[in-house]
Amino acid sequence: MKIVIIGGGPAGLMAAAAASSMGATARIIEKNPYLGKKMGITGKGRCNITNSADISEFIPNIPVNGKFMHSAFYAFSNTDMIDL
Ligand SMILES: Cc1cc2nc3c(=O)[nH]c(=O)nc-3n(C[C@H](O)[C@H](O)[C@H](O)COP(=O)(O)OP(=O)(O)OC[C@H]3O[C@@H](n4cnc5c(N)ncnc54)[C@H](O)[C@@H]3O)c2cc1C
Repeated sequence: MKIVIIGGGPAGLMAAAAASSMGATARIIEKNPYLGKKMGITGKGRCNITNSADISEFIPNIPVNGKFMHSAFYAFSNTDMIDL
Protein backbone atom coordinates (compact mmCIF):
# COMPACT_ATOMS: atom_id res chain seq x y z
CA MET A 1 0.00 0.00 0.00
CA LYS A 2 1.22 3.50 -0.81
CA ILE A 3 0.25 6.42 1.43
CA VAL A 4 0.75 10.14 0.97
CA ILE A 5 0.72 12.35 4.07
CA ILE A 6 0.30 16.12 3.77
CA GLY A 7 2.34 17.87 6.45
CA GLY A 8 5.56 16.75 8.11
CA GLY A 9 4.89 17.90 11.65
CA PRO A 10 4.74 15.51 14.62
CA ALA A 11 1.34 14.13 13.53
CA GLY A 12 2.53 13.47 9.98
CA LEU A 13 5.80 11.92 11.14
CA MET A 14 3.93 9.64 13.56
CA ALA A 15 1.47 8.68 10.82
CA ALA A 16 4.35 7.85 8.46
CA ALA A 17 6.13 5.77 11.10
CA ALA A 18 2.92 3.89 11.93
CA ALA A 19 2.14 3.25 8.25
CA SER A 20 5.69 2.06 7.58
CA SER A 21 5.61 -0.27 10.58
CA MET A 22 2.55 -1.92 9.00
CA GLY A 23 4.33 -2.44 5.69
CA ALA A 24 3.04 0.57 3.76
CA THR A 25 5.19 2.95 1.75
CA ALA A 26 4.66 6.44 3.14
CA ARG A 27 5.59 9.69 1.44
CA ILE A 28 5.36 13.03 3.27
CA ILE A 29 4.66 16.27 1.41
CA GLU A 30 5.88 19.25 3.46
CA LYS A 31 5.86 22.90 2.42
CA ASN A 32 8.72 23.85 4.75
CA PRO A 33 12.32 23.11 3.68
CA TYR A 34 12.60 20.34 6.28
CA LEU A 35 10.36 18.08 8.38
CA GLY A 36 9.38 18.85 11.95
CA LYS A 37 10.30 22.53 11.76
CA LYS A 38 7.77 23.68 14.39
CA MET A 39 8.63 20.77 16.66
CA GLY A 40 12.27 21.84 16.53
CA ILE A 41 11.55 25.39 17.71
CA THR A 42 9.29 24.39 20.61
CA GLY A 43 10.51 25.13 24.09
CA LYS A 44 12.70 27.99 22.80
CA GLY A 45 14.67 25.65 20.54
CA ARG A 46 15.12 22.82 23.01
CA CYS A 47 12.35 20.71 21.44
CA ASN A 48 10.96 19.75 24.84
CA ILE A 49 8.32 17.34 23.66
CA THR A 50 7.62 15.75 27.03
CA ASN A 51 9.09 15.05 30.44
CA SER A 52 9.42 12.19 32.90
CA ALA A 53 6.78 13.30 35.43
CA ASP A 54 4.11 10.85 36.50
CA ILE A 55 1.29 10.88 33.96
CA SER A 56 -1.20 11.83 36.70
CA GLU A 57 0.60 15.19 36.96
CA PHE A 58 0.01 16.09 33.33
CA ILE A 59 -3.73 16.71 33.29
CA PRO A 60 -3.87 19.20 36.22
CA ASN A 61 -1.16 21.22 34.45
CA ILE A 62 -3.11 21.72 31.22
CA PRO A 63 -4.60 25.22 31.43
CA VAL A 64 -7.92 24.52 29.67
CA ASN A 65 -10.04 21.33 29.58
CA GLY A 66 -7.27 18.94 30.60
CA LYS A 67 -9.72 16.06 30.99
CA PHE A 68 -10.09 16.05 27.21
CA MET A 69 -6.51 14.70 26.99
CA HIS A 70 -7.05 11.87 29.48
CA SER A 71 -7.61 9.01 27.02
CA ALA A 72 -4.86 10.24 24.68
CA PHE A 73 -2.30 10.36 27.50
CA TYR A 74 -3.20 6.87 28.64
CA ALA A 75 -3.21 5.48 25.07
CA PHE A 76 0.26 6.90 24.34
CA SER A 77 2.06 8.12 27.45
CA ASN A 78 5.09 10.30 28.08
CA THR A 79 7.19 7.18 28.63
CA ASP A 80 5.91 5.74 25.31
CA MET A 81 7.08 9.00 23.69
CA ILE A 82 10.50 8.83 25.35
CA ASP A 83 10.87 5.18 24.27
CA LEU A 84 10.00 6.17 20.70
C1 LIG B 1 5.10 29.00 19.96
C2 LIG B 1 4.82 27.53 20.19
C3 LIG B 1 5.54 26.86 21.18
C4 LIG B 1 5.31 25.52 21.42
N1 LIG B 1 6.05 24.87 22.36
C5 LIG B 1 5.88 23.55 22.55
C6 LIG B 1 6.71 22.83 23.48
O1 LIG B 1 7.57 23.42 24.12
N2 LIG B 1 6.52 21.50 23.61
C7 LIG B 1 5.55 20.84 22.89
O2 LIG B 1 5.44 19.61 23.05
N3 LIG B 1 4.76 21.48 22.01
C8 LIG B 1 4.90 22.80 21.84
N4 LIG B 1 4.09 23.47 20.94
C9 LIG B 1 3.03 22.71 20.28
C10 LIG B 1 3.57 21.89 19.12
O3 LIG B 1 4.36 22.69 18.27
C11 LIG B 1 2.35 21.35 18.36
O4 LIG B 1 1.50 20.64 19.26
C12 LIG B 1 2.77 20.39 17.27
O5 LIG B 1 3.68 21.00 16.37
C13 LIG B 1 1.52 19.95 16.48
O6 LIG B 1 1.92 18.99 15.53
P1 LIG B 1 1.10 18.76 14.21
O7 LIG B 1 1.83 17.72 13.42
O8 LIG B 1 -0.32 18.51 14.57
O9 LIG B 1 1.09 20.17 13.46
P2 LIG B 1 2.33 21.03 12.89
O10 LIG B 1 3.55 20.89 13.72
O11 LIG B 1 1.77 22.40 12.67
O12 LIG B 1 2.64 20.34 11.50
C14 LIG B 1 1.84 20.52 10.35
C15 LIG B 1 2.79 20.56 9.14
O13 LIG B 1 2.01 20.60 7.95
C16 LIG B 1 2.62 21.47 7.05
N5 LIG B 1 1.60 21.88 6.08
C17 LIG B 1 0.45 22.54 6.36
N6 LIG B 1 -0.26 22.72 5.24
C18 LIG B 1 0.46 22.15 4.24
C19 LIG B 1 0.24 22.00 2.85
N7 LIG B 1 -0.87 22.47 2.25
N8 LIG B 1 1.19 21.36 2.12
C20 LIG B 1 2.31 20.87 2.72
N9 LIG B 1 2.57 20.97 4.03
C21 LIG B 1 1.64 21.61 4.78
C22 LIG B 1 3.18 22.58 7.90
O14 LIG B 1 4.24 23.28 7.26
C23 LIG B 1 3.68 21.80 9.13
O15 LIG B 1 5.03 21.40 9.01
C24 LIG B 1 4.32 24.82 20.67
C25 LIG B 1 3.58 25.52 19.67
C26 LIG B 1 3.83 26.85 19.44
C27 LIG B 1 3.06 27.57 18.34
